[in-house]
Amino acid sequence: MFASLSDRLTATFRSLRGKGRLTEDDINTTVAEIRRALLEADVALPVVREFTAAVRERALSAEVSAALNPGQQIVKIVNAELVEILGGQARDLHFAKRPPTVILLAGLQGAGKTTLAGKLGKWLRDQGHTPLLVASDLQRPNAVTQLQVVGERAGVPVWAPEPGNGVGDPVEVARSGLAHARDKQYSVVVVDTAGRLGVDAELMAQAANIRDAVDPDEILFVLDAMIGQDAVTTAQAFADGVGFTGVVLSKLDGDARGGAALSVAKVTGQPVLFASTGEKLTDFERFHADRMASRILDMGDILTLIEQAERTFDAEQAERMAAKVTGEEDFTLQDFLDQMQQLKKMGSMKKMLGMLPGMGQMREALENFDERDIDRVEAIVHSMTPAERTNPKILNGSRRSRIARGSGTTVAEVNSLMERFDAAKTMMRQMARSGGKGVPGMGAL
Ligand code: GDP
Repeated sequence: MFASLSDRLTATFRSLRGKGRLTEDDINTTVAEIRRALLEADVALPVVREFTAAVRERALSAEVSAALNPGQQIVKIVNAELVEILGGQARDLHFAKRPPTVILLAGLQGAGKTTLAGKLGKWLRDQGHTPLLVASDLQRPNAVTQLQVVGERAGVPVWAPEPGNGVGDPVEVARSGLAHARDKQYSVVVVDTAGRLGVDAELMAQAANIRDAVDPDEILFVLDAMIGQDAVTTAQAFADGVGFTGVVLSKLDGDARGGAALSVAKVTGQPVLFASTGEKLTDFERFHADRMASRILDMGDILTLIEQAERTFDAEQAERMAAKVTGEEDFTLQDFLDQMQQLKKMGSMKKMLGMLPGMGQMREALENFDERDIDRVEAIVHSMTPAERTNPKILNGSRRSRIARGSGTTVAEVNSLMERFDAAKTMMRQMARSGGKGVPGMGAL
């Protein structure tokens, strides 16, 4: 997601590299480039205007920081403004003082509401809540079954209309679902509603009726990030028709331009609370404006990476990985291998690698990434002696050909692995220099 926006912006910043000081002309040219990049990515025009005006003003009056070169200063300013349009600090879901908390999902058909209900249900359950999903989407023939399937997968019960009892009345299903939740002491109720292919009055009225029947604590507007320019008008229509308290961006894993989704928080004044990044239940995360901005600027997303690592491995492993990233510990070939194996365990390799700083430039390579590559790396590292693993400098020609023979690979493959290891090590060092937080990847500017 946002790949082309990210590429355009980083190219703009690269062109500032090596400049000692930014003239007003430099700033104007840069701002014009940023404007073009945002418009091309479908960011809504009013948002682009406000964004570029703010960047220009801040760049012109930039408090000169001795620590940053001009390119880095612009990145810092653009980053801050991106965080701002993405809705600033993340807030938590509002939970009712007296349970059950009611969360209503609204959005167009196909936006990803039903899928989200399952993801949200699982997420809530993992946090210790006892959620109930309510199937109030009676428009689509399969919607109820679909919710039952995701509910089962997520391990979360589903309240669905009894055949012959209330069928056809989504408001009644929502109301009885809530009564059931109160009765059985569920702590959160997630109500899935019907969507249409386009915004229409009947759909809005139905969603509003369900809203009035269950008095939700949160209304989450689910927005397909791939719908382009329509995102803003759709969001506006839902804001006027039903109202919402938060946005969920779905299909952020797609490769569409996605900029319209970036405009939604700004245009509607409601924060993006969650991001959906795939069809699996686990392809779901809290949305953090600062992390998304840093991903767009190709500064990586170390925090999300570490959080996902924490979810996948035990705390000790995650801590070790964090220690490597922050430079407290040396990064060895064994770590490189561990890291690759861990990434493999973590699921979608491309997605994870995309979160590492500086990876934007390697996007093409990533597209062609072959997970079997990890098996080759494994074979090569396993063919090394412990001494070779801790001190790869001793790998001369004869050692390399022995390793190639032992691992069923070629010397060229061994050489290429060593080059990649050196690159990873350099990257780790750069990240360590920036404190493991802040602005990794900016060392490349
Ligand atoms: P609803 O009509 O709003 O309930 O939408 P669904 O939940 O049925 O989703 C519509 C389609 O989008 C389904 O095929 C989902 O598997 C798919 N989908 C939902 N969320 C995501 C996502 O985050 N990424 C991708 N790639 N597909 C998604």
